[in-house]
Amino acid sequence: MPTPKDIQTIFSLLETSHKATMLEELSQQGFTPFQLLIATLLSARAKDSTVIPIVKQLFKTHPSPESFLTLPQPQLEQHIYKIGFYKNKAKHIKQLSQILVEKYNSQIPSTFEQLTSLPGVGRKTANCIIAYVFKQPAIAVDIHVHRISNRLGWTHTTTPEQTETQLQTLVPKLQWINVNRLLVSHGQTICKPINPSCSICPILQYCSYGKKKNI
Ligand code: SF4
Repeated sequence: MPTPKDIQTIFSLLETSHKATMLEELSQQGFTPFQLLIATLLSARAKDSTVIPIVKQLFKTHPSPESFLTLPQPQLEQHIYKIGFYKNKAKHIKQLSQILVEKYNSQIPSTFEQLTSLPGVGRKTANCIIAYVFKQPAIAVDIHVHRISNRLGWTHTTTPEQTETQLQTLVPKLQWINVNRLLVSHGQTICKPINPSCSICPILQYCSYGKKKNI
């Protein structure tokens, strides 16, 4: 298992090839916490490259929870139909906007419990918002984080929930905020699901899977 110092080194190496994740890109471009929440909800089981242009277009006319309340669900579905599970997601966005307006003064709440009580917001989405928006310690485990954690040998798990729990034990809390952004970027560019590019990977020497593969 890596020591905290190893993890610090690995994260520094990953920074050298880091490419902004969807949430980093949208944050840097000034999108609001509400918009980041909607983008994260829409990105579940969908490609960021599909979601990003759709939300940028959508937020031009519908930037706030109030504006989604005025948008009939069938029209919202038309805006997002290229995204997987769009009907369910449209329903959740409508319900979630209503709750934010009525209960949270149109702001998004900041705790895990409050976030996961919103329609369509699961552990991963809540943890993403806590880490990316509120800059608080949280480990958002998506398919990339789950896959790479197991390849590195940091976890030996079959579900994202198990991975989150094991990473919380292994990774120093100050670094939790970096887990999703660094591993998602690494998974999208180098450590892809099929045929990871181990030969050009900056953290090969720290990776169980990569070292075995290259023996
Ligand atoms: S060495 Fe290969 S499997 Fe390991 S993190 Fe790098 S790309 Fe992924």
